[in-house]
Amino acid sequence: MRIGQGYDAHRFEPGKPLVLGGVSIPHDEGLKAHSDGDVLIHALCDALLGAAGEGDIGRHFPDNDQDYAGIDSRVLLRQVVERLHAAGWRTGNVDLTAVAQRPKLAPHIDLMRERISSDLDVEPQQVNIKATTTEGMGFTGRAEGIAAYAVVLLTEDEGG
Ligand code: MG
Repeated sequence: MRIGQGYDAHRFEPGKPLVLGGVSIPHDEGLKAHSDGDVLIHALCDALLGAAGEGDIGRHFPDNDQDYAGIDSRVLLRQVVERLHAAGWRTGNVDLTAVAQRPKLAPHIDLMRERISSDLDVEPQQVNIKATTTEGMGFTGRAEGIAAYAVVLLTEDEGG
């Protein structure tokens, strides 16, 4: 078994769609980024790559590469998963935390879980997603952006 952790944060940018955990969320601002800004999936990709000893998302998908401009982060996640499968790893479980003062994320968690588990090729029960505020403290508390934490466990693929 291998464990990995990931962290990411992006600032809000007015007039951009908000995408989190692979789900479009109605809000008046999105997250500034070279990609779609899906901070939760970025943290997850970093945790997966970290567990496999494969560096980080920036190494695999450089943010100065035009191929990745505005890209759906689920595409990046699926590429990471393919790489791990090829290296003989399967996802055991993942536990994700999004830190956002607003918008309210709870109504979107089930769909995030469905989409992320599908991209990971695991059952939804292997994916846990939590959302919290920081009670107004810090940059997330001031609603300047959203942060995300991820922890994953990889297991060796028994199929070899
Ligand atoms: Mg990011």
